[in-house]
Amino acid sequence: MPMPGPAIRGPRSLLRQIREAMESGGPVQARLDMAVRTIARSMVAEVCSLYLRRGSGDLELFATEGLSREAVHVTRLGPGIGLVGEIVKLGRPLNLSDAPNHPAFSYRPETGEDPYHAFLGVPLLRGGRAIGVLVVQNRTERIYADDEVEDLQIIAMVLAEMVAGGERLAEGALKDVEIAPHKPERLKGVRFAEGLAYGVAVLHEAPVPREQLLSDDATAEEARLKDAIAALQTQIDEMMDGQHGLVGASFEVIETYRMFAHSRGWNRSLEEAVRSGLTAEAAVERVRSEHRATVGQARDPYLRERLHDLEDLNDRLLRHLSGDGGRVHQELPDNAILIARNLGPADILEYDRGRLKGILLEEGSVASHAGIVARALEIPCVGRLSGLRDRVNQGDPVIVDAESGEAYLRPRLDVVEALKARMAVRDQRRAEFARLRDTPAFTRDGAKISLLMNAGLAVDLDILAETGAEGIGLFRTEFQFMVAEELPRFNAQTQLYTRVLEAANGMPVTFRTLDLGGDKILPYLEAEREDNPALGWRAIRMGLDRPALLRLQLRALIAATRGRELRVMFPLVASVEEFRAARAMVDVEIAWAERRGRPAPSQLRVGAMIEAPSLIWHLDALLPMTDFVSVGTNDLMQYMFAADRGNPRVADRYDPLSPPALRALKTIQDACAESGTPVSVCGEMAGRPIEAFALIALGYDQLSMPPGGIGPVKQMVLSCDREAARRGVDGLLKGTEGSVRSQVETLARKLSVVI
Ligand code: PEP
Ligand code: MG
Repeated sequence: MPMPGPAIRGPRSLLRQIREAMESGGPVQARLDMAVRTIARSMVAEVCSLYLRRGSGDLELFATEGLSREAVHVTRLGPGIGLVGEIVKLGRPLNLSDAPNHPAFSYRPETGEDPYHAFLGVPLLRGGRAIGVLVVQNRTERIYADDEVEDLQIIAMVLAEMVAGGERLAEGALKDVEIAPHKPERLKGVRFAEGLAYGVAVLHEAPVPREQLLSDDATAEEARLKDAIAALQTQIDEMMDGQHGLVGASFEVIETYRMFAHSRGWNRSLEEAVRSGLTAEAAVERVRSEHRATVGQARDPYLRERLHDLEDLNDRLLRHLSGDGGRVHQELPDNAILIARNLGPADILEYDRGRLKGILLEEGSVASHAGIVARALEIPCVGRLSGLRDRVNQGDPVIVDAESGEAYLRPRLDVVEALKARMAVRDQRRAEFARLRDTPAFTRDGAKISLLMNAGLAVDLDILAETGAEGIGLFRTEFQFMVAEELPRFNAQTQLYTRVLEAANGMPVTFRTLDLGGDKILPYLEAEREDNPALGWRAIRMGLDRPALLRLQLRALIAATRGRELRVMFPLVASVEEFRAARAMVDVEIAWAERRGRPAPSQLRVGAMIEAPSLIWHLDALLPMTDFVSVGTNDLMQYMFAADRGNPRVADRYDPLSPPALRALKTIQDACAESGTPVSVCGEMAGRPIEAFALIALGYDQLSMPPGGIGPVKQMVLSCDREAARRGVDGLLKGTEGSVRSQVETLARKLSVVI
């Protein structure tokens, strides 16, 4: 027969009692004992036990009311063992009428738990990570009611915060408890934006401060929550109606948002949490951490994707709660390292650039928004750090090593010292590069090498002058589209291109038309899922099949040029027909502008990017049609070696400093020289001194690169004898090795080239 529900419905007063117990003075053990006693009494449970996770992963009985006291600090369960281990593993409650009959039950005679059948255990969750388990037990076989489960979860949340957040508690008795990670750790990830930084962790989704967990007025709090939910629902409904100018909005995603926003389960959980005494913000956190724990473990990519939607929805709700529908700004310390799961287009730009020294992300990809913006702002950024958010606490000291692609959490002093030494060397080198800014890049034997900058956002333009670049060799126009919330219209595009040309101040700028598709997906454009997106409907293929977008872009480029030179090139051209068709579109747009009396470009240069290997064997047909070409080695290598450039498992398997890659590059350069077609390299390799050295040796004299590469590459050029380099590299082209990197390095050293 079911037992009656808890005597005091709703844990409001209980939460206060727990807080008082935990924050009272006295030994930690006494405070935990008091907390479990209070919970047991309030829940009408015969047993209430608290298990906490040790650094080893074991769950240890830390306090109990009802079980044998001798078992405290004696009973330990290894990871995944027993019902408590199961709860940690699942990250959600276990509600059993007859616990000893459960297959995961692990009998521990010292606890004296034989007489108890009913069992309810909930995880103590912090940021989706279980740091312990709270259990209540009763003799009679019964299933605990839903609101009891809900109450215990709320209690567990507050208890988790109290245990984890109390600095004084973390000493002494709880020292070895894995409440909050406190040991030094090193996580391996992927470098998104180069550089080094040391600073203080700032969580992008900052936890609700402990003192703001509990509300004083549940009715007012409920009203606040309801208003925020209503505002959120309206916002999502409007998105569905397309009132925010979403062109072909990704229907499925917004539909999912809507489903969640209106879902009764979600709403009810939030309301329950508020009614029981949490603030609205704490309620969102509670429900969020439960979702994270359950859905986050799902293997199914579809489900994991839905977790993203939920996370976004929670963020939106928190923003509505903050009052103005905008983001809650955090005060940044002077040397902030931002920690996030992932960052949206505008997120980084919202932080104070002067204080933001580095970024660590759990997810993302080099080509993601966060990576793009971090590189543009030259903020060191490492991504794909699995488990990051669980391992770092707000305020922890952290190192961003975006040279090796690693993060050091709570680093040891010697690691910090070593890093500081490396940072000093970097600063010194930067100062040297700055001194070289106005020195033209000539090799020792007098060959002029043009060093140009790759750009894509308005923020890039600020550093153009600082770098000493001779122009912009690749302006990736799709970046503007990727960081926008909706499709940039004609005026917005024209404005950006005008700003770029003005910032260049007469120096050449090569605009690349939209390179979308593949991994560059726009949230507001409907895209079909493709089995092989890198080989799919992307770049110029999209532009030719759906010409409206490309035409609009060309029109905006011509308008921005206003009688200046227009240099435009097309990405991923794979056949001469494609280039011919794309070039014809430029001519049509120029004729269109002329018919309307608008100024035509003073000079028109139309080029192709060489990224598809097919063109290498059709250069004789292509080059006469082009005014210039630019080799996109990032894509060219990915296609030549059939290795996805964004997939860390395969991206490093090949080396552009290898006979096949160098021979292909030489073939292109030779053909261009013969036909008199200007050629540049604009892939990342152009910005790495050793690889740029090989390119110069092959005959290339225009290199376009990320801004950070210009100083080091110029230093290399100034120290290089091109003729000697050519002879040396020529000798490696016939090599039988998979990589000739070490030989190129030896050659550079022999020739005293600074690499
Ligand atoms: C390339 O592929 O080398 C290139 C420069 O273009 P993106 O990196 O934008 O694909
Ligand atoms: Mg490319």
